[in-house]
Amino acid sequence: MALVGIARLAAQSPLLEAKRAVQYFEIPARSILNKTKPHMPFRWTVNPYRGCEFGCKYCYARYTHEFMEMAPEEFEDQIYAKAAAAHLLRQELARTDRRDAIAIGTATDPYQPAERRYRLTRSILEVFARERGRHIGLITKSDLILRDVDLLREVARANVLSIHLTITTLNARLARLLEPRAPRPDLRLGAVRRLAEAGLVVGVNPNPIMPGITDSERALDRLASAARDAGAVTFGGGPLFLMPSAQKVFFPFLEREFPALAPRYRELYARSAYLGRDYKTALAARVRAIRERHGLTSGPVEYRPEIQVEEQGELFG
Ligand code: SF4
Repeated sequence: MALVGIARLAAQSPLLEAKRAVQYFEIPARSILNKTKPHMPFRWTVNPYRGCEFGCKYCYARYTHEFMEMAPEEFEDQIYAKAAAAHLLRQELARTDRRDAIAIGTATDPYQPAERRYRLTRSILEVFARERGRHIGLITKSDLILRDVDLLREVARANVLSIHLTITTLNARLARLLEPRAPRPDLRLGAVRRLAEAGLVVGVNPNPIMPGITDSERALDRLASAARDAGAVTFGGGPLFLMPSAQKVFFPFLEREFPALAPRYRELYARSAYLGRDYKTALAARVRAIRERHGLTSGPVEYRPEIQVEEQGELFG
């Protein structure tokens, strides 16, 4: 059968590097800004990589590899770097409304190991550093973000920038099981601290919150407390969303590591990728109470950047 669209592009992409079991490819992206559905808190997303080496067992983005006619498991060892990401971004930003919120790293981690070599996220931040008055969010699980602190500060001087570190648990052993190749929780908390010390707005997301694994009052409270102590100002979290492509990896993982929980999960997600209203309502109340206890907000955090749009005439006119 002839491959079409993105599957054909993926099949034709030159192999850039093979290391361990992970292979890196360069893929000729047609566009870098993706428009979101109307109910989302941001209008556009930017994801410079397809696939993510961190290999989280619950990762919802595995479906993107199914589009390329690949198995969900290949999501973590076939990584595609989008060629000319910064060039595309410059062109596409010109066609957007400056007030539209843009989120970096919603589908795959922008600071996954591939970024050490390809530096696509850095190139994207360099584009945003020349922008004014944008609202930009960045989500990651990696302390590699610290490499770009100076650049992030530059972006935040003229745009409203909020950074979110995802930390699902403080328990290093549990994190290793759930997120096998992501940086340890203490390294992520250390990144929160350094970013906050650099004057950047940073938050912690305990996403996804997993029933019976990471959703206890005690665990979430400890996490929020550690986040606040590290300098986080926001703490937002929601329950696990489990599409069929993610279930193919997550259910066998549960059978292996949490066999007592496996039947409950199969039942919970039997009819939908979303959890029922009762659980969502109870979890939202728990997270809200914890947030308030620790003086954290749900975001977004607005602030007045040092360089304002209206000053551009004076500065650049
Ligand atoms: S870091 Fe994010 S994108 Fe990467 S595997 Fe984990 S959940 Fe998926």
